Amino acid sequence: MNYQRFFEEAIDQLHAERRYRVFADLERIVGAFPRAIWRAEGEAREITVWCSNDYLGMGQHADVIAAAQATVSSMGSGAGGTRNISGTNHPLVELERELADLHGKEAGLVFTSGFVSNEAAISTIARLLPNCLILSDELNHASMIEGVRRSGAEKKVFRHNDLAHLESLLAQAGRERAKLIVFESVYSMDGDIAPIAEIADLADKYNAMTYIDEVHAVGMYGAHGGGITEREGLAHRIDVIEGTLAKAFGTLGGYIAGKREVIDAVRSYAPGFIFTTALPPMIAAAATASIRHLKVSQSERDAQQRQAQHTKDVLSAADLPVMASQTHIVPILVGDPELCKMASDRLLARHGIYIQPINYPTVPRGTERLRVTPTPFHDDALIETLKEALVETWAALGIPFESQRKPSVAARSDRIVPLTVPKAGG
Ligand SMILES: *Cc1c(COP(=O)(O)O)cnc(C)c1O
Repeated sequence: MNYQRFFEEAIDQLHAERRYRVFADLERIVGAFPRAIWRAEGEAREITVWCSNDYLGMGQHADVIAAAQATVSSMGSGAGGTRNISGTNHPLVELERELADLHGKEAGLVFTSGFVSNEAAISTIARLLPNCLILSDELNHASMIEGVRRSGAEKKVFRHNDLAHLESLLAQAGRERAKLIVFESVYSMDGDIAPIAEIADLADKYNAMTYIDEVHAVGMYGAHGGGITEREGLAHRIDVIEGTLAKAFGTLGGYIAGKREVIDAVRSYAPGFIFTTALPPMIAAAATASIRHLKVSQSERDAQQRQAQHTKDVLSAADLPVMASQTHIVPILVGDPELCKMASDRLLARHGIYIQPINYPTVPRGTERLRVTPTPFHDDALIETLKEALVETWAALGIPFESQRKPSVAARSDRIVPLTVPKAGG
C-alpha cells in the first residue's frame, strides 16, 4: 500500500468537488473591529471581515480583555489539569454559576468547546437513558450529529422544523419509551428559528426530554442574552440548553445548563468532559466578564439587529439574492460551488472584503452561498462598501442577480423581501 498516494487522492477528490478548504491567515486588530490584517503571498494587507462569529465584537471588549489580562497575571496561563485533577480553577466555578443563572437553571457545566459540549452531553444523556430514541432535526450541526452517533442510541431524523413529522415519530415510539429531542434555536446557515414552544408542547404530550443548541443565539437574544428561549419565555420548558462562549461572548468554550441531576450525570459520565484539561482561568474569567456585560447591556444587541436589517435592506435593494432570514444572519445565494469560491476570492483580493464561501456539505448542493454576519461595528458606510463590492463581483462573474433567477433555484429559501430596484445586470 502506497500511503502517501492514498492521502493525495483523498485531497484530490475534494479539489475535484470544489470542496477543498483554504484558510485565510488573519490577524485581528483590537480597537479596529471588524478590520484585520490578511497575509498572503508574502504580503500583509488590511481588510474588512464580514463573516465573523464574534457577533457583537465582545472578543475585543475592554472588560473582557481586562479580565483575561488580570487573571493570566495572577493565575498563569493554563489550568494545569483536568477538572478532576487540580484543574477546577475558581473562575471556572464562577463561570458555571453565571451560566446557570443566565438560563434560569439549577446547574451549568463548561466544556472546552461548544462542539465538545454537544458531542459529550448528547451522547452521555442518550447512553444513560435505557433504550433511548433520539429525534434529531435534519439540519442539526455536525457536533450534535456526532453526539447522536456516539450515543449508540437509535435515531430518527425529522424534517427541518416539521412539527407534524416530529409528532408522528414521537407517536410511533409511544409515551413509555425514553426519547430525546435534539434541535437548535437559530439555524446558522439560513438564520431561521425553531418552533420551540410547539416542540416543548410535543415533548410534554409524549413525555420526551428536550435538548436545544442556542449557540447562535446566546448573548444576542433575550433581555439578558439568554437566547431565544429567554426571549420567548421558554427556558423553563427545555431540559438542557447548550451554548458556546466562542461566538457572541467572544472567548472560547461550550456549556450545558439544566437540572442538577442531569448536569451531574454528564459531569460524572462524559469522557469528553472528564479526560481533558480544563479551560484556562483567564478564558473562564474573560467569558464571565462578557456574559455579565451582556446581561445588563442591551446596546450591542440593538445595534446588531439594526445593522443586520440595514444590510438586508441595502443588499436586497441592489437586486442581490438575499435569502430569507429571521435573524442577524444574512445569507446571499450563489447556487454554485465554483462561483461561490470565485466570488469569495475576488471580494478578498480586489475589494479587501473577507466572506468565506459556504459550500456542500455545510449547505445542500445548489444553495451555495456567502454568509454575511453584520455586527454593531459594521456601520452604514461599511455596508455601502460591501454592497458595491458584491454588485461588482456578481456582474463580473455572471452570478444571477435576484431578478435574473429562475424561481426554482431559490430552493429552500422562501423569500420575504420584496425587490423593487433592479440594478447593475450581469
Ligand atoms: C459553532 C457551533 C457549535 C460549536 O461551538 P464551538 O464553541 O465553536 O465549538 C455548536 N453548534 C452550532 C450550531 C454551531 O454553529
